[in-house]
Amino acid sequence: MKLYMQKRCCGIIAVICLVLIVVFVLNGCQGQKEKNDLPAASKSSFLMDTIVSMKVYGEKPDKVIEEAFQRMREIENEMSVTLKSSYIYKINSNPGEPVKVDSDTFRVIRKAITYAEITDGNFDPSIRPLVSLWGIGTENARVPARSEIEEAKRLVNYKLIKLDEEEKTVVLQKPGMGIDLGAIAKGYAADEVRRIFKKHRVEHAFVNLGGNVLVVGGKPDGSPWVVGIQDPRRERGSVMASFKVKDKAIVTSGNYERYFEKDGVVYHHIIDPKTGSPARTNLLSATIICDDSFDADALSTSVFVMGVDRGLELVESLNGVEVMFINKDLEIILSEGLKNKIKVLNQDFKLVGNDNDEQI
Ligand code: ADP
Ligand code: MG
Repeated sequence: MKLYMQKRCCGIIAVICLVLIVVFVLNGCQGQKEKNDLPAASKSSFLMDTIVSMKVYGEKPDKVIEEAFQRMREIENEMSVTLKSSYIYKINSNPGEPVKVDSDTFRVIRKAITYAEITDGNFDPSIRPLVSLWGIGTENARVPARSEIEEAKRLVNYKLIKLDEEEKTVVLQKPGMGIDLGAIAKGYAADEVRRIFKKHRVEHAFVNLGGNVLVVGGKPDGSPWVVGIQDPRRERGSVMASFKVKDKAIVTSGNYERYFEKDGVVYHHIIDPKTGSPARTNLLSATIICDDSFDADALSTSVFVMGVDRGLELVESLNGVEVMFINKDLEIILSEGLKNKIKVLNQDFKLVGNDNDEQI
């Protein structure tokens, strides 16, 4: 059995990968004349189970970066599913008991439940029993027996998470249930990093939490950032398309992030709560572009589970949200607002369903 945990690589390998991500995901940030010769700083580190990198232009950029990393560490400590001191660990270890949580954790759980409602349970923060059963991204990854999947599935139901707004408590109503915020916490963290940037009047910056990219303003020379979309078939940093943005969150969920292969079948880390198994759409990745990373993160996981038809329908019903799907035939499917905005860099990929082929 082959086991892949791209996001868990650490140490030197992580740092090397990181350089690639910065260069390719946001290419063009080097070699430009920088506005007023603004001071700039960048940093990368392994955090929230992934590689986090950021670049900040403005006064005292090192200080801003330190504060941003401190905030992300705080969020990780509150919401990690494995850290014994986290609120999520406490909730999961005390089913039936109201567990008092901090305002960050409460907000993220509440938002996750809202997305569960919007997506009719395709996104479900109570997915933990299925995630731990499959163990994808851990040393215990395996294909469980049908009976085990059925048993774990019965414990996955966001309607059994009860929130008390006044007391800021969370109760899991069935023993064995568990919350997992892996599909949304990084999005929240990216928005919190942006809040810190704004507090320090930073007008040009980006943060990338392992595929959750958020850009502030444009580049210091006034031009937009150029964001690259990961080629789902290739090593991290290989870009197959790009587009230009200012002030946006861009989040990709892909079947290549964490997976293992057994008997020629790829089992990835995004679970369809209805089947209890990795989502079986014909997608390689789904990228959401909108104003807030919190929404983009929840939605990219959601539409990956829902597939192209239902995913597009959901995205088109929401204001200011765009999506780019890549399917297994290497076709690119775009929401209306993205048409003619994507530059395809690798001719293996074909835009489909577009009114005209013009590209920027
Ligand atoms: P990543 O965290 O790799 O960037 P996602 O944001 O798509 O990718 O989140 C995937 C993670 O979310 C999984 O590792 C798991 O912890 C959790 N998860 C898996 N399936 C679902 C689902 N249907 N709804 C909510 N969370 C999920
Ligand atoms: Mg997500």
